[in-house]
Amino acid sequence: MVLPTEQTLSERDGRYLRQAIAWSRTGRERGNRPFGAVVVADTGEVLGEAWCNTSETGDCTGHAETNVVRQLSPKVDRATLARATLYSSAEPCVMCAGAIFWSNIGRVVYGIDAVRLRVFRGERAEQRDAELSCRDVFAASPHPIECIGPALVDEASEVHVGFWKL
Ligand SMILES: [Zn+2]
Repeated sequence: MVLPTEQTLSERDGRYLRQAIAWSRTGRERGNRPFGAVVVADTGEVLGEAWCNTSETGDCTGHAETNVVRQLSPKVDRATLARATLYSSAEPCVMCAGAIFWSNIGRVVYGIDAVRLRVFRGERAEQRDAELSCRDVFAASPHPIECIGPALVDEASEVHVGFWKL
């Protein structure tokens, strides 16, 4: 099994990714799948924070990253979002990668990757199913979307321990 190589983060990126991981715990505590996301402007201002609320709302699109994009898109201009970073406790799925693209957010940092997450979910790590990496989506974007991850894998994994039933 080849696991993606963990990347080293700056102090600043580490701080905000830990904030996203904290929201993943909130999501789990509230009965949802354990995912969280934070968007931070280049000035350091936290623009938005969200957790996965699919169980609370019954909305299957209520992933953390899509939720935070829905919060910000109506109220933050696209130029600000282009310079912002979205921190996600886990690698964005294809829907969330699409939402990030449409939002114009220019940079993504994530914790646990989809391969390690599949192991938690009891699926074989080599299985790809109909899955696209968020990097495949970002690579198709005409504007650049920087993507860093996996990072802080141990810390990002903690909340998944004992959550996914095999
Ligand atoms: Zn998603």
